[in-house]
Amino acid sequence: MKFKSKSGGEASFRDALFLGLAPDGSLFHPVERPDLAALFRSFGEETPFTEVSAATAAALFSPELDSEAAERIAARAFSFQPVLRRLDEKILILELFHGPSCAFKDFAAQFLAATMEEFLRADARRIQILVATSGDTGSAVAHAFHNREGIDVVILYPSGRVTELQEKQLTTLGGNVHALEVKGSFDDCQRLAKEAFRDETLHRRLSLTSANSINIGRLLPQTFYHIYAMTRRGSLGERPTTVCVPSGNFGNLTAGVYARQWGLPVRAFIAATNINDVVPQYLTSGVFTPRASKKTLSNAMDVGNPSNFERLHEVFQGDVKAMRSVIHGIAMSDAKTRESMKEIHRRYGVFVDPHTAVGYAAAREYLKGSSVPVRGARRDEQVIVLSTAHPAKFLDIVRDSVGAEPPIPERLARCLALPKRSTVMGRDLAGLSRFLLDSFAK
Ligand SMILES: *Cc1c(COP(=O)(O)O)cnc(C)c1O
Repeated sequence: MKFKSKSGGEASFRDALFLGLAPDGSLFHPVERPDLAALFRSFGEETPFTEVSAATAAALFSPELDSEAAERIAARAFSFQPVLRRLDEKILILELFHGPSCAFKDFAAQFLAATMEEFLRADARRIQILVATSGDTGSAVAHAFHNREGIDVVILYPSGRVTELQEKQLTTLGGNVHALEVKGSFDDCQRLAKEAFRDETLHRRLSLTSANSINIGRLLPQTFYHIYAMTRRGSLGERPTTVCVPSGNFGNLTAGVYARQWGLPVRAFIAATNINDVVPQYLTSGVFTPRASKKTLSNAMDVGNPSNFERLHEVFQGDVKAMRSVIHGIAMSDAKTRESMKEIHRRYGVFVDPHTAVGYAAAREYLKGSSVPVRGARRDEQVIVLSTAHPAKFLDIVRDSVGAEPPIPERLARCLALPKRSTVMGRDLAGLSRFLLDSFAK
């Protein structure tokens, strides 16, 4: 598979992976649209997740990664897997939080780290991973790259805008993981990272590499669990299935849309957002208006200018009608998010985090048909809601909303007990540059 940027330059998978952002400052997107429908049909209900991932990766990335390399990478990346849980006749939840940082970003971060390790094995050079995070990206990436040979990790996160637990997950690993606390918003962090990647001096003196969802190597592994979910035929049957994706930067949703283009039989997607709803608004009005993000309960989705919109726009060639026939946008307030957490607990005895709660509420609304502008759900349709984080990662919000407390996984309890170590940063590139050059320049 080859990748292309806005100005048209092509790159191999390996180059796109290590460049992160294309030289013209735009995002890489796949040039080809492979037909993988036969491969998807070959996966049975019993096919393990690592096998689905390795076979899909080999189909996408050969000859750069052959089957054996893909199998090695999948085995090293995934010591955990998605769990599909049926809530009722209409709604299923795909739990994506069984990895080391307890969020769905573990899947792609682990696969990216294992792939880079595979490619770097022959090289002697050191690289620096630079990541802006609104919470969960950073901890997933930090865990994925922690203690890997030849790699340093620098995490930019917005001061005071992540939960205590998220912050502890970013700031307690130590070793090759450096946490920078930025006095600003997530959008500031993201802008800083983009500026650093474009900076001539940094480019010359370091080997900066991105690992957030702008990196195509972080984006594509997210297709694996979309595919995996649709292969669980026992629970899915032949019913039309729509996938609901709680969205912020829209990487997760873009991955699903790619998989659908390659032949995955998903009927449609729901783009579920909090009040940071520029994409649902675009789907209604046809006008894309980025704006400053607002703080909500589902803070990993507090994104005012979603970077992957560029890729979605490319998939549908700027045609909002075409996008609308595949993606339904639904936005939820914080009040509805709380109600949703409560309802799921009351009805099914299940705790969900605020992001999943946004997804569930959007799925319910979709099934009612009240907010779907183009065409409503079919009678036998079911919705898989992607559950993006473990409820214990948002303990206070969940406890306040539900009136009961979810169990805390051992791996989270352990890091809560450790002391925070971070470096405070301003919002300008000068401070970040100094830190990077002082720490890593050869
Ligand atoms: C990152 C994140 C999201 C949003 O995912 P995108 O790919 O940025 O749209 C949703 N929920 C949680 C818990 C997240 O960490």
